[in-house]
Amino acid sequence: MDDREILLDTLRFHGHKCWASVAGVRAGLAALRTLGVRRSGGTQLYAIVEAGEDHGGMCFGDGVQYTTGCTFGKGNVRKDAYGKLALTLIEKDTNRAVRVSYKPALQKQISESAFMTKRGLGVMPDDIPEEEQMEMVNLVWNAPEQDVLTVGETFQYQGHWYPEVIGFVPCAECGELVAKAYLRAVGDRLVCIPCSGYDR
Ligand SMILES: [Zn+2]
Ligand SMILES: [Zn+2]
Repeated sequence: MDDREILLDTLRFHGHKCWASVAGVRAGLAALRTLGVRRSGGTQLYAIVEAGEDHGGMCFGDGVQYTTGCTFGKGNVRKDAYGKLALTLIEKDTNRAVRVSYKPALQKQISESAFMTKRGLGVMPDDIPEEEQMEMVNLVWNAPEQDVLTVGETFQYQGHWYPEVIGFVPCAECGELVAKAYLRAVGDRLVCIPCSGYDR
């Protein structure tokens, strides 16, 4: 896949076109390149995204997920919620890591755009005209990398990775499948967390 294809696929997955998802793609691509690794088809890579909850620009995380293959479903991404558009990407085998953050250089242009003006009035991004969405995409996509990203030096991440526990067992109470690591013992029965009465 070339980079432009990754961008367009990301935007399709994401649901609308916006500057922050593109920033996430660029950060993800820069991190892959710096580590010299491919998109994570399995769980070879792990990503820490610094975006939080309930703020603008969280779309960054979808750009990172699609580009790096570190996804919610594979469980190889997490948020350290600092409300920042930054990513640490780690190669789990070696614990080599790099942090990439998005620079503020374009934010004046972005905040004065038709897109962000409408977002400020509460218009959902996918209800904003396509060309106004694309204006944001192109702005971030076409900017020289040094204007939009700070790419750190590679470093050793202090990672302790757990092996994947394979297998499911039906809960003795409700009968639903439960991943083995999530079974709880109540007396001599193995049950799911909701049936156990335990918090977790
Ligand atoms: Zn978005
Ligand atoms: Zn149950």
